[in-house]
Amino acid sequence: MNVAIAADIYKEALIQSHDGIVLINKLGEIEFANPTFLQWIGLEEKEVIKGNINRFITLPTSKNWKGVMEVTSMKREKQSVWLVVNSIERKGEGEIDLQILTFRFFQKSGLDPLTKLPNRYMLQSRLDEMIACSFYHDTCFAVLFIDLDRFKFVNDTLGHSYGDLLLQQVAKRLVHSIGEKNMLFRTGGDEFICLLDNVTGEANVVEKINKILKAFTIPFRLAQMEIHVTISVGMSMYPYDGNDAEVLISTADSAMYRAKKKGRNQFEKANVEVNAGAFERLVIENYLRKALPNGEFLIDYQPQVDLKEDKIIGFEALLRWNQPDLGRIPPSEFIPIAEETGLILPIGQWVLERACFQIKEWEQAGVYSVKVAVNISTQQFLQRNFVDTIKSVINKTRINPKKLELEITEGMIIHDIDAAISILQQLTDVGVKISIDDFGTGYSSLSYLKNLPVNTVKIDRSFVFDIDTNPSSKALTSAITTLAHDLNLHVVAEGVESYQQLSYIKRSSCDVVQGFYFSKPIPSTKVVDFLKKMKQVV
Ligand code: C2E
Ligand code: MG
Ligand code: MG
Repeated sequence: MNVAIAADIYKEALIQSHDGIVLINKLGEIEFANPTFLQWIGLEEKEVIKGNINRFITLPTSKNWKGVMEVTSMKREKQSVWLVVNSIERKGEGEIDLQILTFRFFQKSGLDPLTKLPNRYMLQSRLDEMIACSFYHDTCFAVLFIDLDRFKFVNDTLGHSYGDLLLQQVAKRLVHSIGEKNMLFRTGGDEFICLLDNVTGEANVVEKINKILKAFTIPFRLAQMEIHVTISVGMSMYPYDGNDAEVLISTADSAMYRAKKKGRNQFEKANVEVNAGAFERLVIENYLRKALPNGEFLIDYQPQVDLKEDKIIGFEALLRWNQPDLGRIPPSEFIPIAEETGLILPIGQWVLERACFQIKEWEQAGVYSVKVAVNISTQQFLQRNFVDTIKSVINKTRINPKKLELEITEGMIIHDIDAAISILQQLTDVGVKISIDDFGTGYSSLSYLKNLPVNTVKIDRSFVFDIDTNPSSKALTSAITTLAHDLNLHVVAEGVESYQQLSYIKRSSCDVVQGFYFSKPIPSTKVVDFLKKMKQVV
């Protein structure tokens, strides 16, 4: 083609483009601006030519760049744009002759005002582009659906302004752990979507997700508090899990939902059996209604070992469900269903009574020195007559109330802190002990502890799990222990599995450990023999 004709055609293409296109020289002066750009900033061509681009936008310093920027129009309106900067260099000399700036303006605002991340609208167009590009180049990419665990809780308890601050910090941390080349979008309240291109395959994506999850082991600082927030991630991959935007997002979404159900703070891959979960749930619910009358529940007991005295001081009662048709179903699966259906009230009551009778039975077998810890669910705790229920179980079973410990979680207290203090005080007056379970997950403020009539904190397993490899877990465990001791509280470390973990726990001066290293939960019938073997009962 004749050079002059080709140049005319290219110029026409630039003029017709729906994207704003601007060419600038080495000095940042505008050499060319197309009508889309001019229309948006509200100037004529002759008014901008040779004018400096920084009147409208602060350009990134990199030669080649893409991302979100703000452009200011003549009317001082600001708009976020998707900007791509390409530099054309004179061959060999590395000196920039021209830069091509492509601005994509959006009808609706493309940016989330809170986090300054591109929003759902931008995600859609970016995802379409990536699908087209990957199809053409025969490459793959991943969609990550990221949701904060228990964000609603932070929002409800600390208020929206803290919730907003947290979201901003979360956005920063995500961007940091993802790396600038890949893109993060805020698509809803506490929902983010990340597109990972340049991935070599599934293993590569998993590696990146693990890096993101790891970034959340460090707590966030909000005002004077430390908040430990985790994320659940669902991943789908183009082209294996779908080849259009909607399918890729929805399969990643349901994978994320499964990650939540499995206990949060983890990721799940997309797969096709999306409906299996809902069905399974319904089946479990139906069986659960009959479990108590059919006598399908049992309680196992896991010993707690005092490190100073080197002896077993108590057991945690852990509910077990042996369903004849379905087999053994773990509490992590049926407790949430029991809570949603309200079945947790009669079930919880049964556990409480059974555990107290157990204390009596062990006494008859010569075991006097151990207490039993019972997990209490939010619904039980929020019952108007909760304190009376506890009193009547104690009366009925005639146990020494000091031998009963109730495990509650931070969530129950934060709900209504004054009401919680009053309930806990009444329980303490009755003589039962109170411990805070899973401490360090969800809402974590050490400061509110000092106002609470509690005896023990149980440091969550997630801190112990990597205490020998993760400095943050080690530091947090030590910090929690020090503060708890200042407040005269006992500290139990949960989930100690190995000798290494135990030695770190000892160094951070926790008082008591519970975990597979010493013993798995054991059936009630084996407890007395177990204690005999440990020479703790004659
Ligand atoms: P939890 O109260 O934090 O109980 C500790 C859980 O950690 C138990 O799981 C225990 O088996 C497990 N565990 C203990 N040591 C180790 C270890 O070294 N490594 C690992 N990987 N795990 C360890 P389990 O029995 O599956 O119970 C799960 C959760 O279900 C409990 O967590 C508790 O929140 C709930 N739960 C259990 N029984 C009851 C109950 O009677 N009522 C209520 N409301 N919740 C219960
Ligand atoms: Mg517990
Ligand atoms: Mg626990």
